[in-house]
Amino acid sequence: MNSKTPESNLSEPLASGLYIVATPIGNLGDITVRAVDILSRCDLVACEDTRVTGKLLKHLGLSKPLRRHDDHASDHDRAKLLEAMQRGAVALVSDAGTPLISDPGYRLVREARAAGISVTTLPGACAAIAGIPLSGLPSDRFLFAGFLPSKDKARREVLEELSSVPASLIFYETGPRLTKSLEALAQLWPTREVAVARELTKLHEECRSGSAQELLDHYNAHPPKGEIVLLVGPPISAPVQVDADALLAEALQSLKPSQAAAQVAKASGLDRKDLYARAMELKNG
Ligand code: SAM
Repeated sequence: MNSKTPESNLSEPLASGLYIVATPIGNLGDITVRAVDILSRCDLVACEDTRVTGKLLKHLGLSKPLRRHDDHASDHDRAKLLEAMQRGAVALVSDAGTPLISDPGYRLVREARAAGISVTTLPGACAAIAGIPLSGLPSDRFLFAGFLPSKDKARREVLEELSSVPASLIFYETGPRLTKSLEALAQLWPTREVAVARELTKLHEECRSGSAQELLDHYNAHPPKGEIVLLVGPPISAPVQVDADALLAEALQSLKPSQAAAQVAKASGLDRKDLYARAMELKNG
């Protein structure tokens, strides 16, 4: 392990530049020693909401000039921040977790890099990365897809686009929208394993897994509160048992055998030719 960091000499002022600093996603203990050091030595903190970051700094016993920054910031506001990074050390934080991960900062980091400003990252809490190991879903390959669209058609299109990705999928979700997303998952991917990771690192942390329909039934009965990561296992290696006959029988009620086989193949990852043969058997009794 190399303990040397771009700012490792604690007795010297911080080098000028941009420091991307992750902050906790709930449990205030999840801030790194390095993050506290940079926040205490920087000249300015760029943040989404000055009240939220003000509270964090107060908890850490720090007081720093705060500058509001989000993705709607004007070119002029970003130029002022870039100037500040040329003169001194600017820490970029978001309300919670890792900046730029479904949070502001993308344009600022790009422009800082393009201007030759030193940019350093301080990794730490991130809800997506906290959720995948907890879910028990395959974690060797995963795709983070941010928030699903709120409109039914757009949500379905995004999910269809991701249908054949051979990896676990991670989405950010909110309580009020969770059941709509689970409904869409239950229709499109009835056989894939799903997990709902809620209130990570907080008092009421919970991680529940099952099929989308099982989770939908649960959350219809117990409307979810708090912050949520929604995770879906990969198409083929999902450990949920596939009842191909039941899926085919349901599909055959409205579709021809070839169409039923194609639909079930898409949803389950099973072989379409085998499914077609089985659909013909079921149809002919
Ligand atoms: N940048 C943050 C990160 O690194 O995780 C994410 C910010 S995004 C605006 C907020 C979303 O992250 C929430 O709607 C939720 O989906 C997820 N999230 C944040 N904190 C969470 C927590 N403690 N438990 C579960 N999900 C969380």
